[in-house]
Amino acid sequence: MGRTSAAASSGGAGSVYIIGAGPGDPELITVKALRLLGEADVVLYDRLVPRELLGSVKPNARLIYVGKEPGRAAMSQEEINRVLVEEAKRGMVVARLHGGDPFVFGRGFEECSYVVSHGIKCEVVPGVTSAIAAPEKYMIPPVLRGVASSFAVITGKEDPNKGRRFVDPGKVASAVDTLIVLMGAGTIGDVARNIMGAGVRPDTPVAVIINAYRPGEEFRVYTLSTVPERVDNPAVIVIGEVVKKALALLGHDTAR
Ligand code: SAH
Repeated sequence: MGRTSAAASSGGAGSVYIIGAGPGDPELITVKALRLLGEADVVLYDRLVPRELLGSVKPNARLIYVGKEPGRAAMSQEEINRVLVEEAKRGMVVARLHGGDPFVFGRGFEECSYVVSHGIKCEVVPGVTSAIAAPEKYMIPPVLRGVASSFAVITGKEDPNKGRRFVDPGKVASAVDTLIVLMGAGTIGDVARNIMGAGVRPDTPVAVIINAYRPGEEFRVYTLSTVPERVDNPAVIVIGEVVKKALALLGHDTAR
């Protein structure tokens, strides 16, 4: 195979940037993302994008909210794709801002594919994912020498239209030291049962970080056997012994 360019381009058209906005703290965005935000003519932003960042756009930039609340979307994915392409074809610089990292359970890749398939230049700007940042705010390391040497990030909620299940939380939890669950606020009880059913100890600690870096932030600690059926959304859930190390550092003794 020869050299390939990550971006396709067409004469006169604008470009699309698929950008990670970080986990919620407006300072946890990259320098590059912030610069591009200031250059964009059109900005499409998600529910979990820190609103303070929208203060960095040009005075005449068009802001479009495309957030997906649980069970309800401001704009369908097809519409988002269409707007990205239409605006770029009009010569606009388009910034599509995702919470966290655009390719970690975002639809960034699909957007990029659609844009590139229409001959428009697309660039991905990585972001700090909540999967790592939210635990780290509470000193929880995904890996730690002598305690955990692997971690996995899974979704707690799969697309029911997909027809088959890709993630078996019990299997993953048995294979890695630390399991991080996104989109699991509504299914945490099921996920915990599944994991215990796979033979993981019921007293394994579980940390739940709700609204990390956002108003209403909460940090809760349980064990696999004491987690409630559901917690508030959005939440990052961390399952594994590394949670105990963080608790010791933070001055909490044990999980409830
Ligand atoms: N691309 C995002 C994840 C999108 S999926 C990223 O890399 O962070 C949305 C899920 O991310 C939520 O259901 C929740 O599990 C998690 N999430 C994102 N931001 C969060 C925050 N500030 N606090 C807690 N969970 C968050």
